[in-house]
Amino acid sequence: MKYLNKSFSIERVKAKYLAKKFGTPIYCYSYEKLKTNIISFKNNFKSFNPLICFSVKSNTNVNLLREIKKLGCGADIVSIGELMKALKAGVNTKKIVFSGVGKTTKELSYAINKNILLINVESKSEVVEIEKIAKSKKKIVNIGIRLNPNTDAKTINKISTGKKEDKFGLTEKSFIALAKYTINSKYINLKCLSVHIGSQIVNNLPYEKMLKVIDRVIKKSNHKFEFVDLGGGFGISYHNKSKKLNFKKYSISISSFLKNHNSKIIFEPGRSIIGNTGVLISKIIYIKKTKSKDFIILDSAMNDLMRPALYGSNHKIIPVIKKGVSSKKIYEFVGPICESTDKFLTSKNFQKLKEKDLIIICDVGAYGMSLSSNYNVRPSPIEILVKGSKINIIKKRQKLIDLI
Ligand SMILES: *Cc1c(COP(=O)(O)O)cnc(C)c1O
Repeated sequence: MKYLNKSFSIERVKAKYLAKKFGTPIYCYSYEKLKTNIISFKNNFKSFNPLICFSVKSNTNVNLLREIKKLGCGADIVSIGELMKALKAGVNTKKIVFSGVGKTTKELSYAINKNILLINVESKSEVVEIEKIAKSKKKIVNIGIRLNPNTDAKTINKISTGKKEDKFGLTEKSFIALAKYTINSKYINLKCLSVHIGSQIVNNLPYEKMLKVIDRVIKKSNHKFEFVDLGGGFGISYHNKSKKLNFKKYSISISSFLKNHNSKIIFEPGRSIIGNTGVLISKIIYIKKTKSKDFIILDSAMNDLMRPALYGSNHKIIPVIKKGVSSKKIYEFVGPICESTDKFLTSKNFQKLKEKDLIIICDVGAYGMSLSSNYNVRPSPIEILVKGSKINIIKKRQKLIDLI
């Protein structure tokens, strides 16, 4: 994704052309970027060849899932709906892991019928439920237990999941007790220890601490885990100079952990695979001038991209046509929705904009479309995947009539 002749392009397709042909807003993804991300992810960890289960909740587009599967990934799912999408995309059931604190009987039953690789449980009650289902189906179910390693991921609070006050996983003590219980169960095969300490993690330290805890817990539980599922959470760089995770360093820490544990590593990356592959192309409806700043009112809103409103995150915004004339005004990019949090970014030295101009909201591939809603009866945007100069519509724009 770059400017070709000062016109922002996704591979060889100009954003301006897409906007004209399909209207705005548009979620547009680059296949090349996706492929590069997966290959480089694999390369970083090639010394121990992990199973990469793409976190479906970060982007649930079936056509993208199919491409991700073709590039060798499995799936990490958190609901029956996501499981169905993964299956529809052709993901091998032996590469699917099921996470989440509140899987219903229906969801567990469906997953057990499909013989997925692992159900990563988060409570004793869930294990008891699985035993009941397994007994009725005369099956032995492969599970993992999610450990809460009580390590602060040092990311934004709303996406930290590995501290003891978070609802996820089991404390060391309860983990060991539950592991003992399952080892004696007729219907359960304890294969995995899983963790996931949060998202958008850019420091290696939390992961290093987490590995130490895992090492200790495995030793204490005195059980051979076929898999150690380290979850996802790898941070990406949303801004030019912002930090991102040092994969090489993390890889070295894991290799050293593996010297004492002969387990297959599973990863559940979402954001780091899909985040920077997508942009949101929007048009300026109005510019509302006030004394202190100009409101740039876009045709995309918090319902299309929830992250700024939900987490206070900032996505870079850039013009579709680069002009290089600075506005000298403060621009506040907002959507049309009746909420004060419907605001994307405040910018101090953007190029001069006018009504009907097009802009790009960057790095929206992860938790963009998947978190979108129909709030204010706004149809969901079209999704397009670009491969070279080829334009694939991977999801049509929702029709207003289907919402009424
Ligand atoms: C959300 C989630 C992930 C993916 O997190 P990313 O930050 O997108 O890599 C992985 N595992 C579990 C259990 C999750 O809940």
